[in-house]
Amino acid sequence: MDARDLFSAELARLEESKTFKYETALQTAQAGLVKVGGRKVVMLASNNYLGMSNHPAIKKAAVDGIRKYGYGVASVRFLCGTQTIHVELEKKISKFVGAEDTILFSSCFAANEGFFATITNEKLGFDNYKDVIYSDRLNHASIIDGQRLCRTETTEKKIYNHADVGHLEQLLRGDQNKDYRFRIIATDGVFSMEGDLAPLSDLVALAQKYTAMLFVDDSHAIGVCGKSGRGTPDHFGVLGNVDVLTGTLGKAVGGASGGYVSGSKELISYLRQKSRPYTFSNSLPPPIVAACLASFDLLSKDRSIVGKLHDNTAYFRKEIKGLGFAILEGTHPIVPIMLGEASLAQDMSSALLKAGVYIKGLWFPVVPRGEARLRAQISAALTKKDLDRALEAFQKVGKKLGIT
Ligand SMILES: *Cc1c(COP(=O)(O)O)cnc(C)c1O
Repeated sequence: MDARDLFSAELARLEESKTFKYETALQTAQAGLVKVGGRKVVMLASNNYLGMSNHPAIKKAAVDGIRKYGYGVASVRFLCGTQTIHVELEKKISKFVGAEDTILFSSCFAANEGFFATITNEKLGFDNYKDVIYSDRLNHASIIDGQRLCRTETTEKKIYNHADVGHLEQLLRGDQNKDYRFRIIATDGVFSMEGDLAPLSDLVALAQKYTAMLFVDDSHAIGVCGKSGRGTPDHFGVLGNVDVLTGTLGKAVGGASGGYVSGSKELISYLRQKSRPYTFSNSLPPPIVAACLASFDLLSKDRSIVGKLHDNTAYFRKEIKGLGFAILEGTHPIVPIMLGEASLAQDMSSALLKAGVYIKGLWFPVVPRGEARLRAQISAALTKKDLDRALEAFQKVGKKLGIT
């Protein structure tokens, strides 16, 4: 059997089932307005929540980083790939999220893979042991893949219904008398398809009640949630009460790449010794590290950037509803606009691109059947004029397609 034939048959199936992912190349930097196919359009599909991707101070920091520390380090961290700026960034993130220590990874995907496998697969002095992980049904692929690396003989995995603390407690209570070594509750801080926040205060309480370790992946929340952008613990007033926080440096904080795990001194030192994606994969490049340092500095000094993001989000949520669109309620800059059928979401996103708005649709199997949607992502990089221009396009296209 020719591999090429198998691949092209599968590609044809994807196209036919309308789940093929087309890539539209941007001709400019990531920003509030971008150019595609020679036309300027309003960007409503990026994770560039704070506009850091193309911020003059961040670009300058990256260039200065290259000048001073070079383009790359050509090493993993423990050989010769640790520069003073790597240590500085780890300290800065710890301070920002209220944790004792932090370890950098090349991405949050790698951080999550590193965390779960390293915690569960080592004996840590036990001859026989079992760990249990309780995982939200809608957790990100990297949390799921991280858990796939945990040995099945020693790790039990239990899925609880999305954000359902009642269901989670039922599972925890049922396991109360079992002799687990670690009990880990794992959740996204913000769920990317729904734009909703994990019920963090309840999860903190449950973790304490059942002596479980609480793991929160705050990738869509770092720089976004809470008055000072410190993430979901900031939003819920539980800073310092989450045992393990992971996140990406590829969304609000710069938008390039990088990930981290923050937690206790002992956990982080242990991950430095044992985590495979940390030990066997290259160190983050200096321009990224330098830009992330500048990004956290900017965030800590100037709250108006997060403030602008929150204002833009509230404005867009109110106005799009006013136009007659059904959205999932919430406060996050991810605003799902519910349409129902996949074909409608596809037609709407093409029509919007023609009308000057870049926005992507989500449909089965990424979201349940019949719940196809467009996902708007609001940014501090958008001006009021950009938002109004987008809303006008929504009004026009919504009428034309008979949605509003
Ligand atoms: C985006 C995202 C990731 C992946 O982050 P990378 O740094 O791009 O690997 C991981 N977890 C969640 C919850 C995300 O939203």
